[in-house]
Amino acid sequence: MSELNSGMLAVDDALKNVLLGIKQLDYEQISIAQAQDRVLAEDLISRFTQPPSAVSAMDGYAVLADDLETIPTTLTQVGESAAGRSFFGKIQAGQTVRIYTGATIPEGANAIIIQEDTEKLGKKIIIKEAAPIGKYIRPAGLDFKIGQTLLKTGIRLNSRNIALAAAMNIPWLKVTRKPRIAILSTGDELVLPGEAIGSDQIISSNSLGLAAMVTASGGIPINLGIAKDDPSSLKEIISKLSGLDMLITIGGASVGDYDLVKSVLGKAGLDITFSRVAMRPGKPLIFGHILGIPMLGLPGNPVSAGVTATLFLLPAINKMLGMEVVSSRTETAILGCDLNKNDKRQDYLRAKISFNKAGDIIAIPFDQQDSSMLANYAKAQCLVLRLPFANAISKGESVKIIRLDYTF
Ligand code: AMP
Ligand code: MG
Repeated sequence: MSELNSGMLAVDDALKNVLLGIKQLDYEQISIAQAQDRVLAEDLISRFTQPPSAVSAMDGYAVLADDLETIPTTLTQVGESAAGRSFFGKIQAGQTVRIYTGATIPEGANAIIIQEDTEKLGKKIIIKEAAPIGKYIRPAGLDFKIGQTLLKTGIRLNSRNIALAAAMNIPWLKVTRKPRIAILSTGDELVLPGEAIGSDQIISSNSLGLAAMVTASGGIPINLGIAKDDPSSLKEIISKLSGLDMLITIGGASVGDYDLVKSVLGKAGLDITFSRVAMRPGKPLIFGHILGIPMLGLPGNPVSAGVTATLFLLPAINKMLGMEVVSSRTETAILGCDLNKNDKRQDYLRAKISFNKAGDIIAIPFDQQDSSMLANYAKAQCLVLRLPFANAISKGESVKIIRLDYTF
């Protein structure tokens, strides 16, 4: 692994290490009614052919196309075929069957004349338009056939996938178990929203934001509360690890006297893979395993915690769920202001998005980029990505961005 100076790991190497240290979870069997946003742990093979027989695509009359050589012509209605109530006879030359959308095509018929092109006089039906063979007929299996694999292992089931699985006659399916991810805040200064608050205290915001991120990305957040900045309080975590798939700590990851995560958990069995990443925000980022459980030690500043979770926690959750893991997807945008040369840390600038007349994305970084500024972070629509040592760049040039406006 390539370490930059000062013992900091490059972002890409850090992500590779996180993913190496995370395993896919086992599966559970659930009902299709519970499948929203779950990740398939099996290929789904259709148990049904859709439609099961040729059906009408329109409301109208089922005819023999050969009867319509001269138009208009008059046919005799001999029955009716509705969805779920088929006409089981066979139609002969000169005959027609009233038919509705989704109804089985009667034997002998080979085209549908839409209702609008007909006139009904009792049992006599005047047909005013001809039709080629097959017109408005959906053949059996038009949509899909029994035995076809239509949904693949690793996809997250959305409303369209769920409708398809139901149409395939699949009542039960295997999905990856949801990862149980515990979140522990650390800091003597922290209280929960609504609690009594001292003059030197602030609200623990990250834990709630991260819990929302875990839920939205398919995990189960487990709130472990707030540990004090003293070794015994932090060590209590050890007794709460059983049954977890991952532990996230917030804060205490840096080099200050009260940054205890590395030293205290290190003594309690935390095997550290890395603890510093060449990025801004988020330099003090820990990854390792504690009692066999993967642990991400996020920095305490709210923007650092949010950005590092976006870059490392989301791919880790995807890996646990057995999804295809892509590092945060970048898009190209036009820079809306000048930027100076970058230093050795990969930068993620919080930015607004607008569009020019051609529809291109314009990314405009905020003037203030302090990693404590949650209000700016909540407003940001993207992160402008700047590689280590990137040259100064002018307004109008292209940059890579990570969209935040359609993630969590
Ligand atoms: P630390 O990494 O513990 O030195 O924390 C860095 C900064 O983030 C400090 O200003 C902390 O008060 C703040 N911070 C730490 N944890 C949280 C949290 N859960 N919510 C909001 N701010 C936090
Ligand atoms: Mg702290």
